Amino acid sequence: MSRPVFRFAPSPNGLLHLGHAYSALVNLRLARAAGGTMLLRIEDIDTARCTPENEAMMLEDLEWLGFEWDASPRRQSDHFADYRAALEDLLAESLVYPSTMSRGEIRRAVEREVENGGSWPSDPDGVPLYPGNECELGPQARNEIMAGVADYTLRLDNAATLARLKAPLQWYEEGSGPDGQTGWIDVNLAKWGDVVLARKDTPASYHLACVIDDGIEGVTHVVRGRDLFHSTSVHRPLQQLFGLPAPAYFHHDLILDETGRKLSKSVGSTALRHLRAAGLTPVDVRRMIGLEDQPAH
Ligand code: GLU
Repeated sequence: MSRPVFRFAPSPNGLLHLGHAYSALVNLRLARAAGGTMLLRIEDIDTARCTPENEAMMLEDLEWLGFEWDASPRRQSDHFADYRAALEDLLAESLVYPSTMSRGEIRRAVEREVENGGSWPSDPDGVPLYPGNECELGPQARNEIMAGVADYTLRLDNAATLARLKAPLQWYEEGSGPDGQTGWIDVNLAKWGDVVLARKDTPASYHLACVIDDGIEGVTHVVRGRDLFHSTSVHRPLQQLFGLPAPAYFHHDLILDETGRKLSKSVGSTALRHLRAAGLTPVDVRRMIGLEDQPAH
């Protein structure tokens, strides 16, 4: 049996906060308990917001916290060619198509639908499903779009993907979803509509880069916040299209602010850097997130 592989995959687009500390330390605890390898992945495909300065602060904060990783971190911005190659495979199989409606056009189309008495579904992130119909175009028209227009978004063709998959797809949930879902979970790709996998000038979305990296790094256990539970319904189909194995999933509790909302990177008072400047120690941080039984190294 090979060793289990875990990964913590933060995005350096702001300061790490208590929610990241929780995710990192839960990952580390599970990895060590399983005798596994702990990887750190830097999810910086958004190169405008993920700066080298943020990355340096992130690594410093993780070291201060006592998070340990067992190999050099994989930085996604160093691997755009891997995501492009994966995308080319899907394009060649007509599983991905270029869409041209702007965000404003999408909003207006959905508003029109609702004004006319209809309703329009949104994905689990609250984004309206794509109302355009470029998925009906043939290969030549698709190529013309990609060669001719100033901007386009590459989307996974939901219907073509569902037709291709060996049904039924599931994943094993060792944690729990927002409604307490646990154990074997049925994938529901349809509720995501045609998800964005790349843009003309951005070679990968989170979903694509995450799946390719988990595959390349041999990740066997994905431990992450419950807010990403529904993303697994996108990740499992992509894994199958790319012939990648399915990891086990553990979606953990989120650390919430006083008003019950998920912490965001703008929540300055819970940034590890600010807590440290205020004189708190890594042990204090563990106590604040309910992991006081986990020793600092
Ligand atoms: N980069 C994502 C985040 O910071 C985590 C993605 C994942 O663990 O799959 O929220």
